[in-house]
Amino acid sequence: EKLYGVSRWGGGYFTIGENGNVHVTPVPADPSIRIDFKAVLDEIRDEGVQFPVVVRFHDVLRSQVANLNTIFRDTIAEAEYNGQYHGVYPVKVNQMREVVEEIVDAGEPFNYGLEAGSKAELITVLALNTNEESLTVLNGYKDEEFMKLALLGRKLGRRIVVVIEKYSELTLLVKTAKELGIEPIIGMRSKMTVKGRGKWESSGGERAKFGLTIAEILKAARYLREEGMEHCFKLLHFHIGSQLTDIRSVKEAMTEGARIYAELHKLGFPLDYVDVGGGLGIDYDGSASTNESSRNYNMQEYVADVVYGMKEVCDQEGVPHPNLVSESGRAITAHHSCVITEIVGEIRSDMAEVDTTPVDGEHVFVRNIRELCETFDTQTNMQEVFNDASQWKEQAMDAFKLRVLSLDELGKIETLYWRIMIRLRDYYSTADYVPEEIQGLDYSLSSQYLANFSVFQSAADTWAIDQLLPVVPVTRMNEKPDVNCSLVDITCDSDGKIDQFTVGREITDILPMHKLKKDEPYYVGLFLTGAYQDVMGDMHNLFGRLNEVHIYSYDDDPQDFYIEEVVKGSSVQDVLEIMQYNPRAMASDVKRMIDRQISSGNLNPREAVKWTDFYENCLSGYTYMKTRS
Ligand code: PLP
Repeated sequence: EKLYGVSRWGGGYFTIGENGNVHVTPVPADPSIRIDFKAVLDEIRDEGVQFPVVVRFHDVLRSQVANLNTIFRDTIAEAEYNGQYHGVYPVKVNQMREVVEEIVDAGEPFNYGLEAGSKAELITVLALNTNEESLTVLNGYKDEEFMKLALLGRKLGRRIVVVIEKYSELTLLVKTAKELGIEPIIGMRSKMTVKGRGKWESSGGERAKFGLTIAEILKAARYLREEGMEHCFKLLHFHIGSQLTDIRSVKEAMTEGARIYAELHKLGFPLDYVDVGGGLGIDYDGSASTNESSRNYNMQEYVADVVYGMKEVCDQEGVPHPNLVSESGRAITAHHSCVITEIVGEIRSDMAEVDTTPVDGEHVFVRNIRELCETFDTQTNMQEVFNDASQWKEQAMDAFKLRVLSLDELGKIETLYWRIMIRLRDYYSTADYVPEEIQGLDYSLSSQYLANFSVFQSAADTWAIDQLLPVVPVTRMNEKPDVNCSLVDITCDSDGKIDQFTVGREITDILPMHKLKKDEPYYVGLFLTGAYQDVMGDMHNLFGRLNEVHIYSYDDDPQDFYIEEVVKGSSVQDVLEIMQYNPRAMASDVKRMIDRQISSGNLNPREAVKWTDFYENCLSGYTYMKTRS
């Protein structure tokens, strides 16, 4: 636990059981519900589902929806706040139908709504958010069709708020609404001067992509008054960035937003709602700090700052408390899903050795480096040992290129070099001071565990923005780890790797893992992938979507769980079709080529049928490596 910190980043949903396996507690309020992840993996295998898989714990999703809404309700009651909470889930964070449907269902008792940021998302939420009490908030840039769809929602009796992101959208909305004779509900997004801290801080500030300046908000409000539509202006929106790491930015944004609301009220625009956007962060590295992948507050503290922050300003200004809207997506979905991949191999620089016994006439470089290796125990200046060995290795490569050194001699030098490096690493492992160059030895001597997945499909943010995700073995955590590793994926891209981990309380480039056993699969989990990672992945190398299993716990037997659904991942055929190929035509072309080999006597008819079937099976099979039949 100290090493992998599962309970630190697990948000109450994940711990390590006594048997060394990850355990899932899908309803933290009821810790008796406890699922052994190993049992889930066994069942996935028994069902014949191939790895890698996305495992979704739907109870976790439901718990997070209930948590956020309950905390808002309780805090509002405790603060004697006069408005209500009308949260919305921004579907862009994870648009999967099963996820959105589950959130809508779990949110029903709280009138929890949805947020959409594009036409396709709007079309989705129109069909899914059928609760007339809940809000549908529309952000993002909009065209006339978008406005019409929103107005269709109004016709259907929905509380759809069109949030104006730039001034010209307002005139378009007013024109469309008047033509159709449908009254819109209008929100305005304010460009905030407060900037969130962290990776998404450009969402705030004057150069923010979205929102109206104060002057534009005033102009827009007056324009609505002139058009006789000021009563349609009901919501003020702001969003200063996702994954806010420091609670101070939440407090500052609340003060700024609340002041704008209060002033608008005094100018005769009594808004019903203030929407504080997203930003509620996740503690990916378990440090509960202002690290980029963490945050120095919890959900309770965030909600308290929103509610009390708004109340304080409203009370000072003598204006009513507005209803509060928030658009938390990351906090709702991150924990509920993870990617489980199997380690299919190990790559290490010092893996292969050649015979280094002295031979007559060998090059002086070989002799020197062998001598250094043999006299290692008598050396007094280890920094010099490192420098000499490194220099000889470098010079050896130059000499090889100049045809002075043979391939065999180069192999000997490499072997001896790595032996020296291993001894240096061991020597310094107990030292108080480790010179900078030698600090890198742990990394150069570590293994790369080859994992059957694609970073680009399953953990896009680790590649794109260096986002840290918790990565741990799913079993054997009660065994002492004996291999230092980073992870590499199976794409043909050197960027396809993960070398940022939380180990203990530090962020490191290697993760202690366990030696691979011949007859036992070693599964590694990438956790907290439910927000963004699940849906942002791309098709690099034509590895498509993963097989998915949806897990529920039984109401009457909380120790047990069931796989409610298996959603098949992409087949080769599926990904080829996306790229405009015609797999059927390809299969018949290959069959024809195989048949031609019969006429030329290269294959007999039975072999030809087998090869044809094999090609067709691969075409309809999974895109990832097949690790067992
Ligand atoms: N609302 C808006 C307007 C956003 O741009 C975002 C994401 O950046 C969100 C909500 C969701 O934010 P989060 O996932 O941090 O809750």
